[in-house]
Amino acid sequence: MADCLFCRIVRREIPAQIVLEDEQALVFKDVSPQAPTHVLVVPKRHLGSLSASTDADASLLGHLQRTAARFAEREGLTSFRLVTNNGRGAGQSVEHLHYHLLGGRAMQWPPG
Ligand code: AMP
Repeated sequence: MADCLFCRIVRREIPAQIVLEDEQALVFKDVSPQAPTHVLVVPKRHLGSLSASTDADASLLGHLQRTAARFAEREGLTSFRLVTNNGRGAGQSVEHLHYHLLGGRAMQWPPG
């Protein structure tokens, strides 16, 4: 999508600290990190949120989780949190599906 922030990062129109990339996914550092490791795992193809996905996206969704796991393994993270905020009420501020991968500190539960 032309004016989507994360689509623009995928197209390299906006700078980001990219840490992993393949044909379907991009992983880059969150600009406002909430943990020593805080990256965003996004599909290169625009998808507004998890709720916007369909059964046709099942393979892509699985790939994003595998990408997160590959990144964590590469970074030596055995404990980490992978979370997506779906919808404004859950805290979603960018309408392009993204998984937050947070690690490097103890996590609390339940999240706020
Ligand atoms: P959410 O609030 O769950 O939609 O998450 C959006 C995340 O994107 C937030 O954690 C922001 O800090 C992060 N963010 C916003 N703009 C950028 C950017 N230009 N580069 C990297 N991360 C960003």
